[in-house]
Amino acid sequence: MRSLTTPQSARQFVLDARATGQSVGIVPTMGALHAGHLSLIQMSRARCDQTVATIFVNPTQFGEGEDFDKYPRTLDRDIQLLADEGVAAVFLPATDSLYPEGYSTFVDPPTVAQQLEGAHRPQHFRGVATIVLKLFHALPATHAFFGRKDYQQLKVIEAMTRDLDVGIDIVAGDTIRESDGLAMSSRNRYLDPEQRKRALLIWQSLDQVAGRVASGQRDVDTLTAAMRTHLLGSHSTSAVRDGVDHIDYAVIVDADDLSPISQVDRPAVALIAVRVGSTRLIDNRILTV
Ligand code: AMP
Repeated sequence: MRSLTTPQSARQFVLDARATGQSVGIVPTMGALHAGHLSLIQMSRARCDQTVATIFVNPTQFGEGEDFDKYPRTLDRDIQLLADEGVAAVFLPATDSLYPEGYSTFVDPPTVAQQLEGAHRPQHFRGVATIVLKLFHALPATHAFFGRKDYQQLKVIEAMTRDLDVGIDIVAGDTIRESDGLAMSSRNRYLDPEQRKRALLIWQSLDQVAGRVASGQRDVDTLTAAMRTHLLGSHSTSAVRDGVDHIDYAVIVDADDLSPISQVDRPAVALIAVRVGSTRLIDNRILTV
């Protein structure tokens, strides 16, 4: 496995592969790899001749007071996992090779970035769109693989790629979960055992709402109220903390453009962001009618 550290060497690696007619898949990550990341690597390996993973904890997508400094960094283990998966190269840029002194250009993200995560984490998608476009230039691949776990992020990247004529196929991978349903996330390691139990309410709410839709309930207000009630547990009525600590949002919106809907009468998605202790967790589930 080649280790690439500058945008120039990364670009040359991809151009050399493409010059021989090979397809190249890239899998951008922030490291602390888990089975969700590895499933994207495996998709890329199955679909493309060469796969390049990236590990970069992107400072511009973290807000003030967020977890940039304490974001888990497990580089040696990550490199071993990627080598075991048979990736051709890993791109490990230093922060100042992507954001050198004087750096001042940012992508103004598409409309789909405005609500939900965009409303709760101002500048987050500006940072995401900027780093993803920079990675697309450093690694001019044929395909790029992203997880549905970060559903709105996927929509932002799809829209940006379309709007800016990037010419890379965006491929989405399903959310990989722990055996009890909790979506795998690098941030799960922040949870203590008691918080880990409460975090499971997220998946349970999504699963319940999917069940209600399957059995004919279509009214979004009713469905959303049920999600919130389940997430909060007996919070308001009991001293025992058996719900999540805060709901940033728990919504059902149009699956394509994330616009509000009042009835689940088209492909929709339930999206949740909550805090358990000081850990912010997100998850989602597509609702089919
Ligand atoms: P991150 O390292 O959190 O920036 O994630 C890198 C990529 O892995 C993104 O495309 C995520 O959507 C994806 N990803 C993260 N968690 C999961 C998961 N549990 N299942 C599938 N993909 C995931």
